[in-house]
Amino acid sequence: MEYIKSKIRDVADFPAKGVLFKDLTTAFKDPRALHIIGWDLSQLYRDKGVTKVVGIESRGFIGGSILAFELGAGFVPCRKPGKLPADTIRQEYAKEYGTDVIEIHRDAITPDDIVVIHDDVLATGGTMAAAINLVKSLNPKKIYVNFIIELTALNGRNLLPSDVEVTSLIKY
Ligand code: AMP
Repeated sequence: MEYIKSKIRDVADFPAKGVLFKDLTTAFKDPRALHIIGWDLSQLYRDKGVTKVVGIESRGFIGGSILAFELGAGFVPCRKPGKLPADTIRQEYAKEYGTDVIEIHRDAITPDDIVVIHDDVLATGGTMAAAINLVKSLNPKKIYVNFIIELTALNGRNLLPSDVEVTSLIKY
């Protein structure tokens, strides 16, 4: 874990003044750190019968794909509006300024699925809460939620429903 941490870059004032951005690109480009991230993420879900990993656009696509591959599960993208080509369902959610929308294909998850929803960073939790709502509406057997990094000071977990298990590899 210390090795991964040593490869995460802090970028001050990105994308807005006052935000300390946890940049995982410096960990993803490092072969050993990428390997450890994939391995450690997958160890959390080895015996859970996971059938689909949902990755949230766009930084959640990287760890989510690796996790799906490691678990022998399928990968499902949760995307910004207008990006997915077939029939979608959508969820609006509040951002600091205004609202945002994410979408998922209506046929992406079925009631026999056991799902991990993955994103790179848990900040305020708004994005993940919306993704959970979307996936829940497709009635899978079980939903797990996972992040590489959790920014604990922002209390994002409080926004997530208590009936989903939330894990993160690294807490700051
Ligand atoms: P949230 O506030 O939890 O809805 O975060 C929204 C998205 O922004 C997440 O998918 C993260 O990828 C990203 N994000 C928010 N804050 C940070 C941060 N300080 N460092 C890196 N990524 C962040």
